[in-house]
Amino acid sequence: MPKVSKKQHDIDAVVIGGVGFNPDDYDFRTIKVNTPYGTVKVKTGNVAHRSRILELALIQRHANNDTSSGAEHLPPHKLNYRANVWAVRSLGANRVIATNSVGTMGSHPPGSFLVADDFIDLTRSRVNTFYDDRTVHVDMTKPYCPEISDSLLSSLENNQMEPFKGVYVCTEGPRFETAAEIRMLGTFGDVVGMTGLPEVVLARELGLCYASLCIITNQACGLAGNKLTADEVVEMLEMKKETLRAILLDAIISLPAHSNCGCKDAIKGATI
Ligand SMILES: [Zn+2]
Repeated sequence: MPKVSKKQHDIDAVVIGGVGFNPDDYDFRTIKVNTPYGTVKVKTGNVAHRSRILELALIQRHANNDTSSGAEHLPPHKLNYRANVWAVRSLGANRVIATNSVGTMGSHPPGSFLVADDFIDLTRSRVNTFYDDRTVHVDMTKPYCPEISDSLLSSLENNQMEPFKGVYVCTEGPRFETAAEIRMLGTFGDVVGMTGLPEVVLARELGLCYASLCIITNQACGLAGNKLTADEVVEMLEMKKETLRAILLDAIISLPAHSNCGCKDAIKGATI
């Protein structure tokens, strides 16, 4: 695993995904962060919220990196997860809130939000570790930062939303799931998406505090009775972006100045 570079910025939180944040609404600057896995474009700047000034960074998961394909929206199985997560550390940030759009497989209705408290990884083709040179079994008892997750749940309540939490199932994609797959996944998971893994694992390997706010954009395939389209997902994201922004900013300002969780020690005792 490459060496981690020194802190360069003083950032309150990094948002990966960036739904709800249109960088053009703010005076954000774009910086290029070099990582051992490629260059990552990061938008960063100040956001005023409830008499505080927050220094934020945004990594737009699908529209990023030094891709040779020229695609404007990279598919989930082709994202450079290692570069994105390494860029957080290169920025000197410790806290990450990921936004993930998901389908619901249970009782959580489209339009609501869910904080992931565990996951099931059904991805197949993605590089899922920084540790190729030695054996490191990182602990996953609490994959998501409890402190940021609690802050997100309180923020949901304060914004008149149900504070749902649950199990995130990550599929490989890019196709949507079959009805039979959803019947099976629904017996052990609450929501299904394609972007949460291996991001959460990589963040854990670097000892970052990482939480995931899932935006439920649709019923999972086969549950609604009609065909699921990508447009439907985008429409819901557009409708919910103001709420999403309020939830994120409220959660970030209510975090304590220093973390009181164990995330930074996640790999202690993990190496063989
Ligand atoms: Zn933490």
